[in-house]
Amino acid sequence: MTANVFSDDFDFENRIVDTTEIREDTFEGDNPLRPKTFEDYIGQEKAKENLRVYIEAAKLRGDPLDHVLLYGPPGLGKTTLSAIIANELGVNIRITSGPAIEKPGDLAALLTNLNPGDVLFIDEIHRMSRSVEEILYPAMEDFAIDIITGKGQMAASYHLPLPKFTLVGATTRKGQLSAPLRDRFGVDLRLELYTPEELAKIITRSAVILGIPIEPEGAMELASRSRGTPRIANRFLKRVRDFAQVMSEGVITDKIAKTALDRLEVDSLGLDQNDRRMLTAMIKNYGGGPVGLDTIAAAIGEEAVTIEDVYEPYLMQIGFISRTPRGRCVTALAYEHLGLKPPQNSLSSQPSLFED
Ligand code: ADP
Repeated sequence: MTANVFSDDFDFENRIVDTTEIREDTFEGDNPLRPKTFEDYIGQEKAKENLRVYIEAAKLRGDPLDHVLLYGPPGLGKTTLSAIIANELGVNIRITSGPAIEKPGDLAALLTNLNPGDVLFIDEIHRMSRSVEEILYPAMEDFAIDIITGKGQMAASYHLPLPKFTLVGATTRKGQLSAPLRDRFGVDLRLELYTPEELAKIITRSAVILGIPIEPEGAMELASRSRGTPRIANRFLKRVRDFAQVMSEGVITDKIAKTALDRLEVDSLGLDQNDRRMLTAMIKNYGGGPVGLDTIAAAIGEEAVTIEDVYEPYLMQIGFISRTPRGRCVTALAYEHLGLKPPQNSLSSQPSLFED
């Protein structure tokens, strides 16, 4: 057996196709790969075009931009886009997240410290507590908050005007937002998974910034395995660079990209062990479905929200899973990809008529 020269460099425990944020993705990490203008922000043409118009109109009127809700799976560029919005408006951005705002007072402090026109970005806005959310309603609508101090007869209410600001909320689960909150966003934009061509452009741009030599075929190979997600594409680039340095004088070629990602157990479509484990469990234990989300979660020891937010969007996009009112089904395409024979006339071998 040959020694694995990469075993010290690579942490195979950590899912390489993971979309959770890592420090370099955050603003504190000062990520050089994060585009700062619309020109550098690749793809999402529809969202970009609309935003450009809204920003231009707001600037012409001298008004703050309407509140914006960005939604879509993790790693697609919601945080990046919010910073670009602030940049294009020429204002400051304050960044926080739903779970980080513990008390109404925390949000009141954030809001009263904004300058006129500023952008307040709240990531994972669906995870904000109800009491915090209630402060946000009048803040978004009337640019004011009502603060109550004391209890009983000593209680006093203060009406505090706020500077006019733009709230940019990001969420992976728009359905979990309460209706009153959802209704207060004037602009509602869904970010889509990226095409391999767009991801190849993102990888090439990142390679230039990081000084990594990459051939177009190498970029395309990484792109087609990146599950439509820029965060994964950039992560692959960095991991594959190490393979290239050891195996081909630093250049990421088509062959190096293939070898490295095979070694990382990411297959030609970007599926990793976890995706394959999930599909196989659905096939072996439940005849390919229909099977409920919680049952799948229990079968593979994963949280249902992770399956919904991280595994499913891509598996649905490539047509490997369909959702029916009776549960999830594995499609014939997925059987073929896994080298298995799809069952005849099974629900799972046909596209569903009842997609939800
Ligand atoms: P989200 O907030 O949706 O989880 P981020 O905005 O943090 O995603 O994006 C993850 C990483 O992907 C960023 O650090 C950025 O480098 C890269 N990225 C995202 N969208 C784009 C894009 N459209 N063009 C280029 N790079 C992008």
